[in-house]
Amino acid sequence: MKVGFPRALFYYDYFPFWAGFFHQLGIEVVTSPPTHRKIMEQGLKKASDETCLPLKLLAGHIQALENVDAIFLPRMVSVEEDTYSCPKFLGIPESLIPAVPAGMPVLTVTLNWRKGQRQVLRDLQVFGLQLGKGNAEIQKAFTLAQAWQKRYQDSRGECWNFEESIREFESATMSSENTQKGILPSQGTWKDRLLAKMSRKAVNLTTPAIPIVAHDTDRMRIALVGHSYLTYEGYANLNLLGKIREKAELVLVQHVKQEEVDTHLLGLRKKLFWTHAKQIYGAGNKFVTDPKIDGVIYLSCFGCGTDAMVQDLLARFAREHHKPYMTITLDEHSGEAGLITRLEAFLDMVERRKVHEGYVSTHGERLDRDSNTL
Ligand code: SF4
Repeated sequence: MKVGFPRALFYYDYFPFWAGFFHQLGIEVVTSPPTHRKIMEQGLKKASDETCLPLKLLAGHIQALENVDAIFLPRMVSVEEDTYSCPKFLGIPESLIPAVPAGMPVLTVTLNWRKGQRQVLRDLQVFGLQLGKGNAEIQKAFTLAQAWQKRYQDSRGECWNFEESIREFESATMSSENTQKGILPSQGTWKDRLLAKMSRKAVNLTTPAIPIVAHDTDRMRIALVGHSYLTYEGYANLNLLGKIREKAELVLVQHVKQEEVDTHLLGLRKKLFWTHAKQIYGAGNKFVTDPKIDGVIYLSCFGCGTDAMVQDLLARFAREHHKPYMTITLDEHSGEAGLITRLEAFLDMVERRKVHEGYVSTHGERLDRDSNTL
């Protein structure tokens, strides 16, 4: 059996969990190709106009899945205690049904960690009946899924390169031949395998090795905050990561360990209850107060409800701490020229501030100075 997994939205955070789950059950997982123009156009045709850009991309990726027996669209209600996913996650798969090719079966399961691990396992066991798998097999698949997810989270916390690490999981699930050849992320130590792969590339010089995260103290350090499915979505964000890296060291929300995120959430009078919003706000706070970070860029998208609130909270915090701060809002009409102009202006301002150590006005300060309304 081949299950199609769209390369969008939950792919960027939870693919290793589902990859491990299906791998243990002997089910091949086929992902859609990286986003290109046609995927974006097809997504725009099938998704609702009012929805956010990541959901539109998901609609495009669903249509790009070929040669699969079913499409997998999980409903990730909650992935940790005391939080929920964004309401748009909860509406999947129903809101995306128009994008599913006619006659293609959709596999779905509800995952709600607020109800505890036992309930999650029970829900997976019910899902297993659709796949013709027994409870014991699902139990094993659940264990492997958690192990792969943990390995992935740890690698992100240690600033491992996203493309490299996620490709490991993809290659392990693409074909059952890999199982026979022993190509599994569960074998060997994770870091050794990735390091070996990178050094091979460096020796061959066929493909330049992608640094995990280089730290050059003389360069500007810019933090990019935003949802993983926007940050790592190179087509939709017009290769923003590459553009920033040409001029500065780049740090992402996904590189911040969970303990640090939690520490920086303590100052809030009321808890944030969306998982991504918590991560973005906690990591964003850390970046704002970190003297080694020279500027913060918030990558948002049009139509995102949680960003509307978190972006404003973070902008106020950055203003209080005199940290250079800029918001980039993406939608399907975003153009490269406008992005480059804004980015260059921001980076020039940060560089002047860093090099000359003189005072340069920070985001919104002049508005704030004479007014109590902001
Ligand atoms: S958090 Fe924002 S960008 Fe993400 S799915 Fe929800 S509305 Fe869309």
